[in-house]
Amino acid sequence: RGNAQQFEFQAEVSRLMDIIIHSLYSNKDIFLRELISNASDALDKIRFLSLTDKEILGEGDNTKLEIQIKLDKEKRILSIRDRGIGMTKEDLIKNLGTIAKSGTSAFVEKMQTSGDLNLIGQFGVGFYSVYLVADNVEVISKHNDDKQHVWESKADGSFVVSEDTYNEPLGRGTEIRLHLREEAGEYLEESKLKELVKRYSEFINFPIYIWSTKEVDVEVPADEEEESSESSSSEEETEEDAEKTEDEDAEKKPKTKTVKETNSEWELLNDVKAIWLRNPKEVTEEEYAKFYQTLAKDFSEDKPLSWSHFTAEGDVEFKAVLFVPPKAPHDLYESYYNANKSNLKLYVRRVFISDEFDDLLPKYLNFLKGLVDSDTLPLNVSREMLQQHSSLKTIKKKLIRKALDMIRKLAEEDPDESNDKEKKDVEKSDDDEKRGQYTRFWNEFGKSIKLGIIEDAANRNRLAKLLRFESTKSDGKLTSLDQYISRMKSGQKDIFYLTGTSKEQLDNSPFLERLKKKGYEVIFFTDPVDEYLMQYLMDYEDKKFQNVSKEGLKLGKDSKDKELKESYKELTKWWKGALASDNVDDVKLSNRLADTPCVVVTSKFGWSANMEKIMQSQTL
Ligand code: ADP
Ligand code: MG
Repeated sequence: RGNAQQFEFQAEVSRLMDIIIHSLYSNKDIFLRELISNASDALDKIRFLSLTDKEILGEGDNTKLEIQIKLDKEKRILSIRDRGIGMTKEDLIKNLGTIAKSGTSAFVEKMQTSGDLNLIGQFGVGFYSVYLVADNVEVISKHNDDKQHVWESKADGSFVVSEDTYNEPLGRGTEIRLHLREEAGEYLEESKLKELVKRYSEFINFPIYIWSTKEVDVEVPADEEEESSESSSSEEETEEDAEKTEDEDAEKKPKTKTVKETNSEWELLNDVKAIWLRNPKEVTEEEYAKFYQTLAKDFSEDKPLSWSHFTAEGDVEFKAVLFVPPKAPHDLYESYYNANKSNLKLYVRRVFISDEFDDLLPKYLNFLKGLVDSDTLPLNVSREMLQQHSSLKTIKKKLIRKALDMIRKLAEEDPDESNDKEKKDVEKSDDDEKRGQYTRFWNEFGKSIKLGIIEDAANRNRLAKLLRFESTKSDGKLTSLDQYISRMKSGQKDIFYLTGTSKEQLDNSPFLERLKKKGYEVIFFTDPVDEYLMQYLMDYEDKKFQNVSKEGLKLGKDSKDKELKESYKELTKWWKGALASDNVDDVKLSNRLADTPCVVVTSKFGWSANMEKIMQSQTL
């Protein structure tokens, strides 16, 4: 191969491949779904481009948007082929080896601790899972803009790319040829592959075929020589009239026999039904869970915490399925303010448009996975044009509403969340599966809800309902604002809270002395984001929030207050003079202390001490 060029894998990619090759991971099956997922992505891309450019698909077989699996038992090759967008020479070099994605090192790191190889797809390096089963891999690819090229690597730190002058032309798309390892022989069994496609790729939106070879019984015209030993040949018939009666049946029908023949044909392995077009009542939990796996590329054991499948009607019509994943991805908040893209896939009339659509959901809901399919949006315009379409605003609004409803329900259905003791006990058996689900949600995505309160004024109250925290009375568990309010003392007007770095620190704070003694509940906010949160969350259900370390704390009226204030007037005045005025604003009689003699309080609009600390650590 004269034009072959050799490249080194980028260092992180090379490490990743080493890990995969030497992995003792037993579930090697996963490579197939990764390859099918890539094929499906490539088909989505070409189908999208064909919306605005009919020519791009070409003609004949090239227009068939499908995936084909083929086995060569003798050569021990398993190949997966698609008629997707394909890769140019440059794509092959960049995408399969020289450019590391952000997920590459994250995944390598994970695998070195207690990582699960099964999650490879989520880190954007699923392709390399082929080396679980193959010691040599060829990627043959034809993109409309380039000649056909072959990428090949034995995972020895380098790969070779050459122009393909020897394989059959693909027309367009990619064929991955796996030269299977000795111990991976099971992947040469048709039945095994069929089972895997069924298990992992049921919800792929393109037809998946396997080149199926079967032994079949066929009736063939009886061979003369063989036949002669059993009965008479046609030429002999007239001469041997006597035997005619014995063989009447054979005479009426043409003479045939049954032989075994191998018959090969493309066999379709999936029925390409869009789950979101079906009636939600007819879709099982199991189907949703499997659909989530394919959609989110999340093949962990855990099921999604919740989902919502609905149809929006009116000016803008669309169907959508939203999922709350079981776990937050590794980089959820890392690039929060830079990454604008949501994790929703946008379809228009069943055609995949994009999974990088800006602004389909607000940033704080980027942890959701899902899909939107709209009949209202136009099909034959560019992504940029679509991005401007007025319907998107309506879609976004409805999606937010549905998403928040879904999360609210997750809380309501969790018996651990219930205020109602009786309900907790009675429904125990039915609800065991839902028990603790909201706490799981909160631990994974609580920060998103807080960011939502900060960013989404229109839904602030709805989001505040979803807020959970610990308090002086929550007994080590999480509690909600509604629960707090239900426990408020008569005469208590405000919701009390205190911010700091840990629950333990707050629990011993002098600010709480008297409040605790008098039986007032105080919320603990210990996340740095809570300080910002409380600048936006001013009130809830007509109750104001009061930081108990700040000026303005009002407990129930005490008749002695006025009297006391009067009798200590001289002392407070003296103190104020004694402390220079640029050190303190004022000196007042405290209503929050029991044992501690005095305490420094922040002014109403000033930063709390905790906030000062946060700001300091940020400027350092
Ligand atoms: P991901 O699919 O998450 O991007 P992969 O490691 O599975 O990560 O694939 C890496 C890249 O290789 C893809 O992003 C794509 O650009 C390219 N690729 C892989 N398989 C195909 C294919 N069948 N057709 C076209 N491009 C492909
Ligand atoms: Mg992939």
